[in-house]
Amino acid sequence: MSTRPTLLDEEEAHRLDAADPGHRELFHIPPADGGRYAETAYFAGNSLGLQPRATRDELLADLADWQQLGVEGHLEAGRPWLPYHELLTDAAARLVGARPEETVVMNSLTVNLHLLMVSFYRPAGRRTRIVIEDAAFPSDSYAVRSQARFHGLDPDATVLRLRPRAGESVLRTEDVLAFLDREGDTVALLLLGGVNYLTGELMDIPEITAAGRDAGAVVGWDLAHAAGNVPLRLHDWGVDFAAWCSYKYLNAGPGALGGVFVHGRHLADRTLPRFEGWWSTEASTRFRMAPVAAPPASAEAWQVSNPPIFAMGPVRTSLELFDKVGMDALRARSVRLTGYLERLLDAVTPGRPLTVVTPRDPERRGCQLSLRIGRGSAAELARRLRHEQGVVTDAREPDIVRLAPVPLYSTYHDCWRAADALARTVAEDA
Ligand SMILES: *Cc1c(COP(=O)(O)O)cnc(C)c1O
Repeated sequence: MSTRPTLLDEEEAHRLDAADPGHRELFHIPPADGGRYAETAYFAGNSLGLQPRATRDELLADLADWQQLGVEGHLEAGRPWLPYHELLTDAAARLVGARPEETVVMNSLTVNLHLLMVSFYRPAGRRTRIVIEDAAFPSDSYAVRSQARFHGLDPDATVLRLRPRAGESVLRTEDVLAFLDREGDTVALLLLGGVNYLTGELMDIPEITAAGRDAGAVVGWDLAHAAGNVPLRLHDWGVDFAAWCSYKYLNAGPGALGGVFVHGRHLADRTLPRFEGWWSTEASTRFRMAPVAAPPASAEAWQVSNPPIFAMGPVRTSLELFDKVGMDALRARSVRLTGYLERLLDAVTPGRPLTVVTPRDPERRGCQLSLRIGRGSAAELARRLRHEQGVVTDAREPDIVRLAPVPLYSTYHDCWRAADALARTVAEDA
């Protein structure tokens, strides 16, 4: 490990933290084993957000209700279990710019994508294709291919992957629009990531949604990397459906429940196919034990099972935090913090085999910056950053290291540590 000082100004990072603090005190920051600092500089909140300090006691309170009340907790718990999911709905709706009846927290992300595609992927005639981005998260690729097979279609012919131009790393909006203009009449479903997990690109959700719908396609968004990262206005943008997870920017814990949005214009449509269970029926009718469901005209109709209360608690705690801080304030700090990290990376990447592939325009990205590693292994670099410098990043095959300064708990000094660690770890070109 090199101890040679870098040209980066550590005092400046401390000054910026004093002037522009986040809410780090509300979170547990994992300790760094080894290295010069007690805590890790944590840049993996895009993969698994850190634990809010409030989560533990809130979860224990739900657990104590079960201990004390048994089955009677359904109605008598401090937060009764039967309507527990309703405690999450308003905050989740605010987070994504939805109406409460358009939103529900349930299941996990890929499961929800499937449940939504049952309703919204309806191949017919010439219009059979599902369009995703080539850099789609694997789970999304597998999900859409299996949906094609479910309809008796050949996934290779049905799933179209949009690629960036040769020599470029991210998709251009104009190219997506041009594609829709050309071939939109073959598209049944356009399903893109709002913020791409690999490159950190924020798509122009309103413009692409409008173009997709004009072309006659259904437009869904996977917001795994967008929810809690960038402001969203799903209702106003006319998005048909969306799904997200709560364990990345929403800090609700590993495997936490996901969220679902279904636009209001679909809620009263009785012709939509849907997979149902006893939680799909209107709550007031649930215990009539009727043979036929009576689904409400809301996203709750997409629920199937009674939800896991101990998994809902951490989502509730987390959403309350987002409500308190406010997405607009978070986004403003996010733009400043990521801009600062970008400036430091621009100081250390020249002369090293490191290239920022995330769009430079803050309007075209969330908080994540992705570095392409031109020499050596990304996984090995992430490992060294972690174990030699206490800087937690992650590597994505084959050559990307991702850094996400999260505005809730990351600091300017974390950003300084990341750039300093890269300078110490990656040799300059000979
Ligand atoms: C994180 C992520 C997933 C993970 O899916 P799960 O069903 O929650 O395991 C899927 N898609 C995208 C785009 C992701 O970023």
